[in-house]
Order: sequence, then structure tokens, then C-alpha cells
Amino acid sequence: MTKWVYSFGDGAAEGRADMRNLLGGKGANLAEMSNIGLPVPPGFTITTEVCTYYYANGESYPESLKSEVEAGLAKVEATVGATFGDASNPLLVSVRSGARVSMPGMMDTVLNLGLNDETTAGLARHSGDERFAYDSYRRFIQMYSDVVLGVEHHLFEEALEVVKEDKGAILDTELDAPDLQRLITDYKKIVEDELGRPFPEDPKEQLWGAIGAVFGSWQTARAVTYRRLHDIPEAWGTAVNVQAMVFGNMGDDCATGVAFTRDPSTGENIFYGEYLVNAQGEDVVAGIRTPQHLTIAGREKQGSDLPAMEETMPDVFRQLDEVRANLEAHYRDMQDIEFTVQKQKLWMLQTRAGKRTSQAAIKIACDMVEEGLIDEETAVMRVEPQSLDQILHPRLDPKAERKVIAKGLPASPGAAAGVVVFTADEAEKLAQEGHQVMLVRVETSPEDIHGMHAAQGILTTRGGMTSHAAVVARGMGRPCVAGAGEIRVDYKGGAFSIAGVTVKAGDWITIDGSTGEVIEGRVPTVDPELSGDFARVMGWADAARRLKVRANAETPEDVSTAAKFGAEGIGLCRTEHMFFEADRIVAMREMILASDEAGRRHALGRILPMQRADFVEIFKLMRGKPVTIRLLDPPLHEFLPREPAEFEEVARATGVPVERVEARAAALHETNPMLGHRGCRLLNSYPEICEMQARAIFEAATAVGEETGAPPLCEVMIPLVGIKKELDLLKAVVDKVAKAVEAETGTAPNYVVGTMIELPRAALTANHIAETAEFFSFGTNDLTQTTYGLSRDDASAFLTNYEKRGIVEQDPFQTLDQAGVGELIEIAVERGRGTRPDIKLGICGEHGGDPSSVGFCERVGLDYVSCSPFRVPIARLAAAQAAIRARKHAAEKATA
Ligand code: PEP
Ligand code: MG
Repeated sequence: MTKWVYSFGDGAAEGRADMRNLLGGKGANLAEMSNIGLPVPPGFTITTEVCTYYYANGESYPESLKSEVEAGLAKVEATVGATFGDASNPLLVSVRSGARVSMPGMMDTVLNLGLNDETTAGLARHSGDERFAYDSYRRFIQMYSDVVLGVEHHLFEEALEVVKEDKGAILDTELDAPDLQRLITDYKKIVEDELGRPFPEDPKEQLWGAIGAVFGSWQTARAVTYRRLHDIPEAWGTAVNVQAMVFGNMGDDCATGVAFTRDPSTGENIFYGEYLVNAQGEDVVAGIRTPQHLTIAGREKQGSDLPAMEETMPDVFRQLDEVRANLEAHYRDMQDIEFTVQKQKLWMLQTRAGKRTSQAAIKIACDMVEEGLIDEETAVMRVEPQSLDQILHPRLDPKAERKVIAKGLPASPGAAAGVVVFTADEAEKLAQEGHQVMLVRVETSPEDIHGMHAAQGILTTRGGMTSHAAVVARGMGRPCVAGAGEIRVDYKGGAFSIAGVTVKAGDWITIDGSTGEVIEGRVPTVDPELSGDFARVMGWADAARRLKVRANAETPEDVSTAAKFGAEGIGLCRTEHMFFEADRIVAMREMILASDEAGRRHALGRILPMQRADFVEIFKLMRGKPVTIRLLDPPLHEFLPREPAEFEEVARATGVPVERVEARAAALHETNPMLGHRGCRLLNSYPEICEMQARAIFEAATAVGEETGAPPLCEVMIPLVGIKKELDLLKAVVDKVAKAVEAETGTAPNYVVGTMIELPRAALTANHIAETAEFFSFGTNDLTQTTYGLSRDDASAFLTNYEKRGIVEQDPFQTLDQAGVGELIEIAVERGRGTRPDIKLGICGEHGGDPSSVGFCERVGLDYVSCSPFRVPIARLAAAQAAIRARKHAAEKATA
């Protein structure tokens, strides 16, 4: 027979901490605290399985639940020595929800349940405090009516105001017992007027009402939304905790408080908490009274003159401090606790793992290893990879004031301030003059790269998380807020406006690319700290992981950043980014505008030495680590200006008649350029581009090999292959160039040729492609785009709405869609390895830096992930956690 109710309290419990799925987080921890002998008011937990049953059976309960609840209640009565509903010495209970993971605000707590006219009189006599009894009763009616009966809260607040006004009182505490009795009558009338039936006086009816309300709260709109946002499955359900009340509001020898066993913002090993004398739990949270510090040190640090608990209740404080030590020793983690003191006796109401900043997480993990509480792998698991974003970049000084004027997508983390400029040229010019600039654009294009590089940060009003601005900014490590759609940019007027605020060119703004906030004026920032504890945790992570971590980078600055953050190679060097610099774009345009192959070769001849110099620098910086260089990928029109007005300038610079520039731009125009003449298609049309790039790579490698004695391994990557033959033809070109360079220099380049898998057809025919390709790199940006048939540049406009409505769980351009895109990857892995067992496999789409996507890469057995330089540490940690999880899983399987 299923057991539906689990008792706890009085130094024993039927549950345990590891029964969280059944008892919910709160219930499991109340049981655990009872088991380790901490003072927990007795109570019982109705399991999450009852919730599941309730919804599977037309909102009804299992048959034996009633008798199990009665038995649970009887145990509590026996322990406390009071009886539920008894007029002389009534037992009161609290009723709280408790899911497996905490869902704050899902259902409020009901306190003081069991009060009615008779039991309140009994409570008054028994406690010897009439005012306390009536105050508890009126709080109960208010809470129960709001939470369980659905009567609007403000009606009670208004009634309370009337009574206070009549009395001339300012504080609630000035009301005496008769005032409160009058208020109770008013409250009951409100309930009867609103519901057409009286407030329930029968404590049993109250109890079942509250239990039903907790289960009902699982399906409220806000709970459903919360679950969707936090990936909490519907099927988990919530438990209900019914627990004997203890009172922190029975006089000045009573108190209530909350605490963390260590400082949750710095991680320092100090007791960090607050309490209120003569108060009930909700008073601490409500912020009506100023809470006092637990410790003298805490009080002194904050410069508070309100006495600390250590001073006012030294005995209780000593007990609480012991509890703190017990909890940490037992849970081996920082805890967030709630407690109440009733007549100098300490009661523990809750404990759970405390939320903390990433800085605190790192410090606590390291300290706990030192203290022998946890091992190094556990420490690695304690830091949320994504949260490293908070510490790898400069962030806003938390002490500084800020006026947020707009919000966009948090496209590239970090905070930055600068004076507003609206063009890339202006950004570069002002930056050269020594100004800090913020580039503000409707959207950016490859032509803006130099300005993005010169700017402290980038703000766009259009585009999503994989828009040009977002991808490039992340790669460069520039903070970026993208798609701040409410901002209106007036390029002509040199200003942007939002909700009545106008910001002109030259005005300071600050952006926070981690939150998407746009802030007026200049807010100071603080720099990241990468040594010390951070380095220790990363060292442990590196020892635990299997996946290699590389970076997507092409500029020397980004490559150095990548190396600094621990990249083990370059997984994607996008060579087109190297063509946009001022001296190169002209040669590139000459190549595009040339009327024949000879003309193109001539222009390419001018680009060759520049490309070679780039590669030399990258190979040197990477010191023999593998570098994947991708040949030209974007359609050619991206290298020509968009505005006809700019054609003149191009004509002048290249010496080509403007008519020809116009004609060429028109010819290159494509309705659907992302699916058009780009990648290997373009290289097959103009193999001389492939030739030039291969030559630049091999000559650079040979030169660096000669200079350093360690010839680098070049991985030449052909983009957008969908048909094996596309790759075959280009590989032949690359091989021919290699032979030629060998003949000229006497050294055979050390290289392999591979392809990106970024089209579904490539994934499905991977067995054929692997006959030629020596490695695959999954380009999941394009693979997501082409699998969904969803434009990566335009989708953000409706994807947000899709997420809100639950049509998609997450933005598939940020978190890999494992069911669809992931399936194609798995197919390609299996078929590719079928043909070539030692084929090297990696991922270089944006997903390579997303922790859950990294977990997927570990599961399907890729060799490496590659991501933006600033996400390298995140990927290292995520890869370590995925490996540790996989090992644990395998060990569990082996024992089972
Ligand atoms: C990709 O498509 O995933 C990729 C890495 O290439 P790009 O973003 O340059 O198209
Ligand atoms: Mg691509």
C-alpha cells in the first residue's frame, strides 16, 4: 500500500534528505534536520505523489489519505501536548507547499491555522496574552482568506486602516485586544460579503481547505510560467507540509529570523543573518521593521546601532551557531535557514542549499575543500558554469547608482560605458583620439567590424542572440545589448530616443551585456579576478574533463584572450573577418569587381601577403596547438556597400566605373543569401580564392615551423558542404597547393582537410563525406537555421513569443535543440565514424559555449567544443561537470 504521509519532529522522522522527489525540498530537509537531532517543530509531509494522484483523478484524493492525515495530526498533538481544535489548549499549524526545487511565490504560507472564536479564547487564556491571541486570529483570517479563499488582500488592508484611523494609531502594534476583536468581526463580514458564506470555523475544514489550495496552486498561471522558465516538469507535483506552530511573537523573549551559514555574496566563512524580536516570519520579509544582525561583527560592519542577537539572546545565539556548524558538517554545503525563538527556545523551520553569487560559489567551494568537507570534484560541481559570465568580464560596480532607460537582449556579457557614436568610422576615429565610445546601430554588418573593435560596447535596436552584432561582439569579448526594440535611432539627427529620454551623439551611456540593460550616463565598472580560487577551481575542472575546449577567434587580440582563458586550440578562424580591414577591403572589392579570372588572381595576389601575415601571428600565438582555418564563407555581396551613395566611393578606390559597381552589386543580389552562393559553392565557382587561402595558410605554417622548429598543425575547413563532390573538388585544390608549397620550400605542410557539418544533407550523408573529410566541425548556427528552416538573423522577432507560449522551450540558437538538430549530429557522428573511425569531431557553433549543449557534446562523444574566447572557462567547467556526471551515471549503472 502506498504511504502518503510522512511524519517528522521530536528527534526523529520517517523521511530523509534524499527523499526530495517524494517529500519536496522543504519536507525532505525538515525530516533530515529532525533526524540529526535539531529542534524542529513536529509535523508531517503529504507527498508529491498525492499531487500527481489529485490531478490524475479529477482533483480527488487517495482513499486512505484522510486517515493518514488524522494519524499524522494525532502524533503532532501527542508531541506538543495540545489538541487541534481544542478550546482550552489548541494546537495550531502552518501549511506550506514544497516542490522538489524551490518555487518562490508559488503559494504563500498559511500560518496559525486552527484558530476560531473558541480556540482563540483558549489561546488567550493558555498564553496569558490576549492581544497576541487576537492578533494571531486576525492575521490568520487575512492570510487564509487571501491564499485559500481568494478574497482580495486589499479589502483587509483597508479595514485595518479604518480601525487604526478610528483609534488614531500609526502602527499595527498600537492596536489592543478589543481593537483587534473589532477588526476580526470586520474581516469576517468582508469574507461573507465577498463569498456569500461565512469564514470556516471548523479547524478540520480549514486544514483540508489549505491542503486543497496548495495542490491547486500547482496549476496557477504563475506556477506554470515559473516552471516553464526554470525547466521544471509538470509531473513533479508539490508536497504539502503541515507543522505545529511556534511563535516568535509572544513577547520580547521571542524572535524570528533568517540566515546563511556563510556570506552569500562574498562566500566569506561568517555567520550572516538577521532577526526581529517579537515577530512572525512574514514580518522579516515584509520589510516593515528594520531587522537586526545576528552577530556583533555583522552589526559593526554595517554600522548599525540596533543590538545583535549575540548580545540580546546570547544563549539562543550560541545554540543557533551550533546548529550552523551541525548543518554545514552534515550537508557539506552553505545553508539558507529560517528559525523562530519562542520564549528563549530555538526552533528550526527550514534549511536548504543557499543561493550565492558566482564569486561566493568559488570561494565556498575552495574553502570547503580546504576544510575537508568536500572533495575536488564536488567543488567543481558546486559552481554554475553560466554564472562565470558574471566574473570573467568587467561588471557594474554594485555600489553605483544607475538609471535604466531601456532593455534589450543580453547578447554579450560584461558592462561598459562610452560616449555614443552612430557609425563605425566615427567609433574608430574617436577611439584613436583616446575616447571611450559606445557604438549604437539599428543593426551591424561586416562593414562595422573596425568600429565594433574600437568601441567599448555595442548597442543595437534590431536582431537576436545570433545576429551579426551579437556573434561578433561575443567573439571579441565586447559587451553588447542587441535588439533593444523600443529605442528609436535617428542617424540623421545624431540621437536616439526612448520613452521621453533623448540621448545625443557624444553623451555617455552604459550598457550591461549580462542583463540587457541600457543605462543613462557613466556607471563605474569593476574588473574580473582570474587568479586565486578561480584558477584552483578551473584546474580541478581541467583534471576532470574529457572534452577539449577550443576558441573561435581570428584577430590576434582574440586569439591571445583565448589562450589566456585556457583554449587548447582554435576551432574556428573565420577568415572573412580578416578581409574587412580598411587596406584589405579595397583589394577584396577589386577581386569581386574583376571581369575575369586573371583580374581576380591579380587582386588575390595583393591579399595573399596580408592573409599570410595574419596566419603567422595566429600560429605563433597558439604555439603548436591545432588551428582550424575556415575558407571564405559569406556571399560576396557582404563585401560591397549597401547604399547606392557609397558605390561612388568604391568606384573611386578600385578604379572601376560606377556603372560596373552598380551592375555587379545588382548581379550579386540574392533573395535568400543565407541559402545562396556562399561557402563551398562560392569557392567552387572561384577556386582561385581557395588556392590563395590555402597558399597563405601553408606558407605561414612553413615560415613559423622554420622559425620556431615546431610546424603547426593546420586544419583546413571547407564551409557549407552538402554534397561530397563539393568537398572533393576543393580538397584537390588544397592538396595541389600543398604540393606546390612543398616543391618551393622543401617542407611538406602538416595539414588535414575537413568540413563543417551545417546542412542536414551533410549530416545525413556523413558516411560519404567522411571518405574525404578528415574532420567534422558542427556549425550548429547554420545547422539550426537549416534544420528548422528558421532565419538566424530574423527569428528573434517571433521566437520570444514562441518561448512565452511554450511552442519552443528555449531559443534553439542559444541552447542546442537536442531532439532535432542534436539527432542530426548523432547521425553524422555515427555515420562519419562508420567510414573513418578516427575522424576528429568538434562543434564551433555558438552552442559550443552553452553549458547544457556542452553536456550533449560529451554524451555523443565529440572530441572538442569551440566557443567565443570569453566563454572558454564556462565550457571548461561545463565539460568537467558533464564528464563527472557521466562517470557517476556509469558507476550507478554498474552497481545496479
Ligand atoms: C555555424 O554556422 O555554426 C558557424 C560556426 O559558422 P557561422 O556562424 O560563421 O555561419
Ligand atoms: Mg555557418
